[in-house]
Amino acid sequence: MNILVLNVGSSSIKYTLFKNTKILFSNLIERIGEKKGKFKTHSLALKEIKTQLTLKNANIDVIGHRVVHGGKIKKPSKITNNIIKKLKKVAELAPLHEIPEIKVIELSHKLFPKQKQYAVFDTAFYHTLPNKAKIYGIPYKFFRAGIQKFGFHGLSHKYVSQKLKGKTITCHLGSGCSITAIKNKKAIDTSMGFTPLEGLVMGTRSGSLDPAIIPYLIKHQKLSLKQIDQLLNRKSGLLGISGISNDLRDLLKNKNPRAKLAVEIFIYKITQYIGSYTATLNGLDNLVFTAGIGENSHMVREKILNNLSYLGIKIDKNKNKTNAKIISTKNSKVKVMVTKTNETLMIAKEILKITK
Ligand code: AMP
Repeated sequence: MNILVLNVGSSSIKYTLFKNTKILFSNLIERIGEKKGKFKTHSLALKEIKTQLTLKNANIDVIGHRVVHGGKIKKPSKITNNIIKKLKKVAELAPLHEIPEIKVIELSHKLFPKQKQYAVFDTAFYHTLPNKAKIYGIPYKFFRAGIQKFGFHGLSHKYVSQKLKGKTITCHLGSGCSITAIKNKKAIDTSMGFTPLEGLVMGTRSGSLDPAIIPYLIKHQKLSLKQIDQLLNRKSGLLGISGISNDLRDLLKNKNPRAKLAVEIFIYKITQYIGSYTATLNGLDNLVFTAGIGENSHMVREKILNNLSYLGIKIDKNKNKTNAKIISTKNSKVKVMVTKTNETLMIAKEILKITK
């Protein structure tokens, strides 16, 4: 079966054509809507993708759309008007991705009317979270009104843990960062919440903070809600603390004490979450690092792991330095892995499963 996977970002569309799980070809259209970009809108970019596919005589059986926020939808779903209605309801929670995603989904039905189209959600992996993990400590009526932990990066956490039995913690450390606790392949807790802002310190996102800081900023710094939203999502995290960059590579090279401090805080929070989720799981069998930082920075991994020796973790320093698949020693009590994530392949696999 030939599956076209569309991965829509706030200013990009990546497309990959699979024959089952084998990539036939793949391309990325970037800078959509930007001054230097070739395409003003996602719709124009999708039309270009159709042209590129036609020129290659591509045969497409089904189309899979990656959707960041599926709300309470539990499984990959065939796209119907009802599904689109549900997505529009949650679009406000992840507007940067979800609004262009919905536009692309709607136009894709017009451009590819013969193909069945499916949505695969980053949130779906978390439908197994127990109530005690997903309900916040605010009046229950707000849970009834839809405020709960949804969790994100689910396709990545699922991909890197799919073959692991027992008690697993997966660390997706990229420009966005999240950690998930998984028991026998089911997610039982995760660090991102109602939106991707909760949890770890990230490239530009603050992660968790005392909620009382928000009314304090409104009152004493006279910030508007829009400014607070920008502050916490775009100007905080590694960038906000260092005042230098949101890119970890820049900070690791920089001798400025604030660059060092940002990296220290970043690692501190990750270590805390791993400890906390080990308690949630009542033990740990597997620890997985993935995404840009998790896959490539042996220094970050080493610093995190040095603080986890109480778990009986033993690291082979040479294997860690070369980003080997397994970086723990044979007598380590926890198997520590570095696994390249592949969200696009995960989408193709999910679609193959439901169309069989
Ligand atoms: P992602 O969002 O998964 O593409 O990851 C982006 C993040 O990975 C950025 O903060 C990069 O600085 C970081 N990154 C990529 N390669 C490396 C590397 N070799 N060492 C440290 N950080 C890296």
